[in-house]
Amino acid sequence: MKNGIISLLSLSVLVGISGCNSDSDTIDYGKKASSYLVEIADEVEGIGAREASTPEEAAMGNWLYDTLTGFGYDVEVQPFTYQKGDKLLSSNNYIVEKQGASEKTIVLAAHYDSTGSDHGSLGATDNGAGVAAAVAIAENLMQETLPYTVRILFPGAEENGLNGSLHYVRQALAHNQLDNVIAMINYDTVGGGDYVYVHAAHSDYAEYQSTCEKLGLTESDYNSQTHIRDAMLQASIDVKGEDGKYTVHPAFPGYPEGETGSWSDHAGFACAGIPIAYVEATNFNINGEYGFDGYSQTTNPNAWDCYDAENKTACDRDTESKWGKIWHTELDRLDKLEELFPGRVDQQLSNNVNIVLRLLTTGTYIDEK
Ligand SMILES: [Zn+2]
Repeated sequence: MKNGIISLLSLSVLVGISGCNSDSDTIDYGKKASSYLVEIADEVEGIGAREASTPEEAAMGNWLYDTLTGFGYDVEVQPFTYQKGDKLLSSNNYIVEKQGASEKTIVLAAHYDSTGSDHGSLGATDNGAGVAAAVAIAENLMQETLPYTVRILFPGAEENGLNGSLHYVRQALAHNQLDNVIAMINYDTVGGGDYVYVHAAHSDYAEYQSTCEKLGLTESDYNSQTHIRDAMLQASIDVKGEDGKYTVHPAFPGYPEGETGSWSDHAGFACAGIPIAYVEATNFNINGEYGFDGYSQTTNPNAWDCYDAENKTACDRDTESKWGKIWHTELDRLDKLEELFPGRVDQQLSNNVNIVLRLLTTGTYIDEK
């Protein structure tokens, strides 16, 4: 009881000093993200696996619609179809927007489908974590006065070809809805891995060319500027200090410092000329199945047949089957993750929410180029 009184007192002192009185200051949106993650990725208490274009993905979409509507948003449902082999499949994007003082707009995206359910994945980190964090951010933004307009996009069917985000970009280009967009932040697997990185798009257009061509775009449309990544890095330093800041990976063969490939929803935006920042939790220091590409997420021995710590790779590259991957495997479940890394995912979620909230509610991070 005594502790409770003291913490309440110190909290009111803090609130007094900051000069803010709104209720949202007393709510921990990082913790809220953790509870949303249970609703998303726990197969008993929540939805569980949600493969693209299945009833479970649709259930996840309905959860997003209801939850975001509950916060007071007008939720835009954007249906789309896409070809997968000889099948025409369908899914939805969900979009909400909070008006800021400026029409200039920052897009935050987090795909809500998952994959690997045949291996036991429930999509806890890929991408339950990104969705949970984006939902908690959406909830808080409703209480805030914003310098920039913020549009939050939840693409469907990412895992089988970036279908939702490419449809969104195609439509947005056709209706001039990207004209005011000055930045895009992609949340895909923002927890689980050993480090939480922030990347920019690749400086070599060839890495994105095949994606850009799907949108009818060319090299002259492409944007690989790094200032949104750098703004995110600065916000992370201001919120978490040097010890808790986002990691920018050093240069590896094929991946110059702090740059990433086209395998997630940021790609279509970079193709369309929007500077991006992509947050993902992984471990670029591992010489994984295809080299230093960030696909091996952890050195945890349970994620390897045998990890050779000295050489940062598999003990036997020919026989290794796990390669330190969490995403799309039986390890991407809340129960397994808690066993492997007690407290890690909650901490990474909370950090992500607080860093991006700082960036979105402060007008000084983004240097508009
Ligand atoms: Zn993903």
